[in-house]
Amino acid sequence: MIVELVSTGTELLLGQIVNTNAPFLAGRLNELGFSVLFQTTVGDNRDRMRKVLEIAMARADIIITSGGLGPTQGDITKEVTASLLNKAMFLHEESVAHIQRFFDERRLCMSDNNLRQAMMPEGAQVIENTCGTAPGVIIEETTAGKVIINLPGPPHELTAMFEKSIVPYLVERFGIQGVIMSRVLRTYGLGESLLEEKIKKYILTQANPTLALLARNGEIHVRITARAASEKEALQLINELEGKIRPLLEEYIFGIDDETMEQAVGNLLLKQNMTIALAESCTGGLVTSRITDIPGSSGYLAGSFVCYSNNIKISQVGVPEEIIAAKGAVSRETAEYMAEGVRKEIHTDIGVGITGIAGPGGATANKPVGLVYIAVDGSAGKVCYEHYFNGTRTNIKHRTALAALNHVRH
Ligand code: ATP
Ligand code: MG
Repeated sequence: MIVELVSTGTELLLGQIVNTNAPFLAGRLNELGFSVLFQTTVGDNRDRMRKVLEIAMARADIIITSGGLGPTQGDITKEVTASLLNKAMFLHEESVAHIQRFFDERRLCMSDNNLRQAMMPEGAQVIENTCGTAPGVIIEETTAGKVIINLPGPPHELTAMFEKSIVPYLVERFGIQGVIMSRVLRTYGLGESLLEEKIKKYILTQANPTLALLARNGEIHVRITARAASEKEALQLINELEGKIRPLLEEYIFGIDDETMEQAVGNLLLKQNMTIALAESCTGGLVTSRITDIPGSSGYLAGSFVCYSNNIKISQVGVPEEIIAAKGAVSRETAEYMAEGVRKEIHTDIGVGITGIAGPGGATANKPVGLVYIAVDGSAGKVCYEHYFNGTRTNIKHRTALAALNHVRH
């Protein structure tokens, strides 16, 4: 079965957003055994979108569009699809009720143009959107034997709808034999090439399961994908290969599948019955924010200070004025005093102090942009880590946050 992905949205063509929907869909469809042979991107323009869909209909069996299902005038994917297939549009009452409920729950007023989202091509299967208002659509074109699927553009809506409704549809409709399962080992602390070196033997020789490396936001993900007749067999294949590579990467693996670094840290603190407090300078509260992304984080996070200015470092967490004068606000000593100070101030088992130069200004001859000190103060004493990160101000903040969480884990 040949698939063509059609990403719609003028903002994609202008380079204003990165297309993450197409790689997601391509990856999942390949895992399911479909051949994604074409990917097209087209703006919110009726004539060009129609032309792209015509071409896709001629060379693919399944066409999956993303975007343009929303309420505004630029959202035209459904209409263009319907007009190409000579199908009239009708108002789908269940979708109207779903959209109305969505607005009611948020105490928002629904405007008339939201009803456009409930207009459906005749004969279409309407797919519920569990994360937003715009339903998806599956149209089976019987004469040519083609399937066109319209999915919403917002990535969280698209991925949820794909997993919940489209995968079961495709499996059922195209009678996929056997199962494909993946497991991701999430690692941190080793670069991609060093990591590859460690498990190269398995990457080169494995056909089933396959092994793939993926760099994501400072983490390296090792994905094991197995194809087998049953779920049990696929799991067994995955477990076998994981058993071989895990010992080679053990110290770097922090989570499996969707488990984030903040989740791993949270689980560890809960297990050890420990509490934590942070004094953050260059990260401006980002580490604390990530910790609080985890439900139940009140079980271990007591509180934090954002100690951005020198004065606050002195008054809130007791960094001695002379230390800042002699060593600088970005120094090993300042980070250590911040960690110790916040631990004592908030009465926790662990204190973390973070200070660094996020840039683009602020560098000196021996303190470049990206220099960061992260100190962790616990019952066993203080440890301070020095990092030289690169990238933009935002990159440096994110890399610092990830490193800080990782240091808490060790
Ligand atoms: P909405 O109801 O939000 O208008 P929609 O189905 O009409 O949804 P679009 O208007 O095309 O979808 O896109 C909505 C938002 O989703 C975009 O602003 C963008 O942030 C994101 N988005 C759309 N397409 C993609 C894509 N291919 N990759 C990543 N993000 C995307
Ligand atoms: Mg839209």
